[in-house]
Amino acid sequence: MNENRFKKKKILKIVGSLIALAGLAAAIAGFADMGIAVKERRFPELFFLLIVGFPCIAIGSMIALSGFRAEIVKGTVKDIAPALKELNDVVTTTTEKEATEIACPRCGALNRSDSVFCYKCGAALCRECPECGKIADFRDEYCTKCGKKL
Ligand SMILES: [Zn+2]
Ligand SMILES: [Zn+2]
Repeated sequence: MNENRFKKKKILKIVGSLIALAGLAAAIAGFADMGIAVKERRFPELFFLLIVGFPCIAIGSMIALSGFRAEIVKGTVKDIAPALKELNDVVTTTTEKEATEIACPRCGALNRSDSVFCYKCGAALCRECPECGKIADFRDEYCTKCGKKL
């Protein structure tokens, strides 16, 4: 089905280009004939080619462009897809971060992992290592920097 659509766009491009080219040829022929007719002081018999030619160029280019435009849109989607995936990754990472929330030891409220005090009861969620001063999670039993028992 996808291939079918692709074929359709290809046909649009070819048919559109052909109509535009035919219109251009007709317009040129009509224009040339008009020039000759003016010189020869006769009625420009191929004048109708000009009238038919210009709309053909316009319609043909429009058809061809609609074929091209589909490809441009497809290219844009291809460009956007990795960006969307990246955004999705960021959202997923953020959600994962939220999953590592710290439960308050006093009231059990879920605090953000970077919180120092509980947002609900004010209990300390971190403690300072007496040896090296590193801020440790209240769940840590030993300092992750110097190994001192907290
Ligand atoms: Zn609390
Ligand atoms: Zn320490």
